[in-house]
Amino acid sequence: MPTEVKCLASIEDNKYPVPSTIARRDLRPDDIEVKILYCGICHSDIHHVRGNWGPNGYGYPVVPGHEIVGKVFRVGADVSKFKVGDSVGVGCMVDSCQTCETCKNDRQQYCHSTTFTYGSLDRRDGSRSYGGYSETIIVTEKFVLSIPESLDLAAAAPLLCAGITTYSPLRRLGVRSGWKVGVVGLGGLGHMALKLAKAMGANVTLFSRSQGKAEDAKRLGADHFLLSSDPEQMDAVAGQFDLIIDTVPYNHDVNPYVTALVPEGSVVLVGYAGPLEPTVNSTPLVLRSQNLAGSLIGGVKQTQEMLDFCGQRGIASDIEVINAQDLHYAYERLRKGDVKYRFVIDIATLQV
Ligand code: NDP
Ligand code: ZN
Repeated sequence: MPTEVKCLASIEDNKYPVPSTIARRDLRPDDIEVKILYCGICHSDIHHVRGNWGPNGYGYPVVPGHEIVGKVFRVGADVSKFKVGDSVGVGCMVDSCQTCETCKNDRQQYCHSTTFTYGSLDRRDGSRSYGGYSETIIVTEKFVLSIPESLDLAAAAPLLCAGITTYSPLRRLGVRSGWKVGVVGLGGLGHMALKLAKAMGANVTLFSRSQGKAEDAKRLGADHFLLSSDPEQMDAVAGQFDLIIDTVPYNHDVNPYVTALVPEGSVVLVGYAGPLEPTVNSTPLVLRSQNLAGSLIGGVKQTQEMLDFCGQRGIASDIEVINAQDLHYAYERLRKGDVKYRFVIDIATLQV
């Protein structure tokens, strides 16, 4: 029998989530039911419910949330890796085919059959997936992550998306001691990129449109802070960066960041995912063999690697914990780039 659980759901286009209920399916043999304690609020949740990425293809309700931490509550008959009571996390995916080449190579995010945590259709029965702004979630065992004991559970929740999305390109591009890394935008992803790049030994510069974040950037570990709207400050760093991770959620001029790269350096976009205006000048890219790239979350194995890396070094998110009824207020502040540096919902406060 499906179980009815409390949640926060968007019930129609362009409407913020409100208290509601959804039905969770029965456990399959390889399923784990997680009792959710905390769920981070990612800017993707706002893009999703505001239709920034086009109309929501699978209809309503939409229950956002893919930065999930909780305790194992029930396990299916074939589950072997986890037991009731374990502290676990769930990120942006809850299942994939597990047999294709991308799945075998821990690149489940590119599998044609991936079931994303919300706003997706279950690959096995076609039902709609619902995310972590809810009391429980049911997830294929292979997509459940272990949370290191050393981490605070609420502060660990944002690692499941903001953490892996920034860790993955830092690793792929081979960041090491002495590299100059730039991070554009001090929000949820940006502050994790900053902490992780520092932990990998990089010299990190934070590019922000908000001068008021300069002190925080330094407190979080940045070696330098630059006001991205000041052309003089931007000109002064031309040709310096090995890698720039750009987390800005909306269209903006990427050319100054390409100019800031060393030859063969890379700008990696993780925020905005639409047509770039103004267009990017290809001349420096070609003449200096530079890369303009993108990056999508990370695989399950790499997500566990990132969690262990954070556990060993005591790295977690700076969070503002909110009650479920304050979601609208949090969304409005997030839209303005005003959060220090991730809102996390205390799921115990969910009421219907
Ligand atoms: P946040 O809102 O927490 O941070 C974004 C930061 O970008 C802001 O704090 C702000 O920093 C800066 N910014 C610059 N211009 C704007 C603007 N017009 N509006 C708002 N912020 C602006 O967002 P997240 O870190 O949660 O997410 C960033 C982006 O990454 C989103 O688009 C999200 O969808 C995407 N994302 C991508 C993933 C992937 O796999 N590629 C996974 C997860 C999220 P400052 O004030 O310092 O300039
Ligand atoms: Zn996210």
